[in-house]
Amino acid sequence: MQLNVEHITLADIRGQLTDTLVSVSTVFVMISMLASFSRMPVLGFLPVMYLHAFIGLLFLSVFFAKNHLSHSARGTFLCSMFFIGGVAGIHNFGLSAGGTIFLYACGVVSSMVLNLRAAISFNIGGAMVFVSYAIALAYFDFEFAVDVGPYGTSLSSWVVYIISYVFVNSIVLYLTTKLFKYLTSMIELQQSNIQEKEVELSYSQTILNTVLNNLPYGILWKDKKLNYAGANKQFLDEMKVNDVSDIIGQTDGSFFSKDEAERLLKLEQQLLSSENKKLSYEEKVNTDDGDARYRDVMHLKMHSDEGEFVGILVSYHDVTEAKLLQQKTEDAMLLAEEGNKAKSQFLANISHEIRTPMNGVYGLIDLCLNTELSAEQKGHLEKASASIKVLTSIINDILDLSKIEANQLELEHIPFSFKQLLSDTQVLFEKQASDKGLYLETDYFGQEDVRVLGDPTRISQILFNLTSNAIKFTSSGKVNITIKSLAYNGLVTTKIYVQDSGTGIAKKNLTKIFDAFTQAELATTRESGGSGLGLSIVKRLVEQMEGLITVKSSVGVGTKFCITLRHKLENIEQRVDTFTRTRVDLKGKRILVVDDNLINIEIAGAMLSQNQVEVSSAYNGVEALEYLEDHKVDLVLLDIAMPIMDGCECMKRIRANDALKNLPVIALTANVMASDIALYEQLGFNDCVPKPYERAQLLEAVAKHIN
Ligand code: ADP
Repeated sequence: MQLNVEHITLADIRGQLTDTLVSVSTVFVMISMLASFSRMPVLGFLPVMYLHAFIGLLFLSVFFAKNHLSHSARGTFLCSMFFIGGVAGIHNFGLSAGGTIFLYACGVVSSMVLNLRAAISFNIGGAMVFVSYAIALAYFDFEFAVDVGPYGTSLSSWVVYIISYVFVNSIVLYLTTKLFKYLTSMIELQQSNIQEKEVELSYSQTILNTVLNNLPYGILWKDKKLNYAGANKQFLDEMKVNDVSDIIGQTDGSFFSKDEAERLLKLEQQLLSSENKKLSYEEKVNTDDGDARYRDVMHLKMHSDEGEFVGILVSYHDVTEAKLLQQKTEDAMLLAEEGNKAKSQFLANISHEIRTPMNGVYGLIDLCLNTELSAEQKGHLEKASASIKVLTSIINDILDLSKIEANQLELEHIPFSFKQLLSDTQVLFEKQASDKGLYLETDYFGQEDVRVLGDPTRISQILFNLTSNAIKFTSSGKVNITIKSLAYNGLVTTKIYVQDSGTGIAKKNLTKIFDAFTQAELATTRESGGSGLGLSIVKRLVEQMEGLITVKSSVGVGTKFCITLRHKLENIEQRVDTFTRTRVDLKGKRILVVDDNLINIEIAGAMLSQNQVEVSSAYNGVEALEYLEDHKVDLVLLDIAMPIMDGCECMKRIRANDALKNLPVIALTANVMASDIALYEQLGFNDCVPKPYERAQLLEAVAKHIN
């Protein structure tokens, strides 16, 4: 019998022991039976021979039938036979031969395979047999067939036999009982360990089942041959199967259509033959109601701890809702993108539409102001010019904000001086402040000639915004602008303070003022005008420069803005470059102005002519190209939106022409969205001057690129 050590029981030990003893005893009895028969001619004591033969046959039959007898039946038989055999042996061979051995063995075996009480009664019974023999020998003249001599018949030797029999039996009994107890306790310990493990295992099994059955996944697992080995509740429910045992050993063919089962088999075979650990895909499933559902499916190879492939785990879950949501999000993003494009397009168009006529008005006023005028006319024109400036600044604000929001605003890194910016601001706002009866005070603390690398235009924009607000919201007192610059280790940290003694901002509005189109105190703002864009642009510019802006204010006392910026120090070579650049002489240079708007041509022409530039003109791209074929020019100012051939197409052809490909061309246009400027750069424009422009701006750009 093969014993499983993990599940060994007391009954198993008894059975095993009894089997062994029956086998050994059978051999032993057969030998003693042969010995008994061999002595028959000498002794002629037939009853004992028959008894031995009978016992021998019984042992043989028990040996062959042992698998059909319980161990206690075999044990009882064994003890009885030993006992009878022992008595017969004593009678036939003498006390010191087989009898003693048989009776000892009888006690040992009985204590082992039966129980203690049975063993004791057999031992007492055995002792009683000796006593009976002793009495029979002493008083009834009973004789042995073998002469055992006076030693075998004397009372003292019988007393020794009985005492030694009981003594040895007791020791053997004691030892075997101990051994048995030890074995029992070992088995009990092992069984309790097994029970504990079984409890743990069943707990883990419960957790595993709970998790498996409550996951929003259908899960099934297959053995090495891709037959189903188990599944969770979701899969069973879906397949309308009640018990997991109903799917074990099945294949995909039992649950899916032939084609589907073949597809799955092919997939899994491919997975098995590949190095990949898993296979994932999304599939569309049509429900019984005819709805389409989507699910993510995964086939995963399973390996034992030893790395042996044991099967495949298949899991799937419904992703229809997520897919619909993703679709909705994508649609919404597409819509938003389209909306954004439409917004940018709208801004581009509107700014172009406004800038083009404004350029005319602005340029003409500028030209008029340079002619002889009465004081009254001059006054009117200056006011008109100021209004155009305000309008331009609002449009610029809107464009700036949309550029910043689209992350399309690029900052320059050119040398400039904060001291210079401060004095520019002072000059620009002095009149405005004094008109309101305000005192505009500026202070600069730092090295006099320190120049840093940054974007002076955008920093001026910040300064102008804060100063104009300070003047706007202050009715009496003063506005102070202080700049403190500290150079250290090649870096310059600058703090700009703009402080006023104006209306102040309520605490609850302090965080709102930086939001676009938000005006802290509507009543004041309405009086003072403004679009509510200034501070939001300032904040975003400061953030883009990696600086910090803070504000402190108290209603009725005033407001103080503080901006902290960091810049690198300018190196000297750059300074020389800037200096030489601004000194270019334009006298005698030939410039072609291309614009479909006659007024704009006139304005550009008039501005350039004042610097003795020879100006020629064309009304569209075709005319410009024709002109350039026959004439040599030093630079082209090219409008973009023109009939017949626009500026972009014209530019492409200029750059494609070997003779013209290095000719400096500046876009002179009202289309100045970040995307437009990027396109101009891509087409090969050297620069872009946005309309409406001032004379200085135009001359600066021309001087920068003309050879
Ligand atoms: P705008 O000045 O065009 O209205 P801004 O974004 O520049 O827009 O300012 C937003 C609001 O913050 C203003 O409308 C005003 O209520 C408040 N504000 C800004 N600067 C000051 C200041 N120096 N004193 C008082 N209020 C101010």
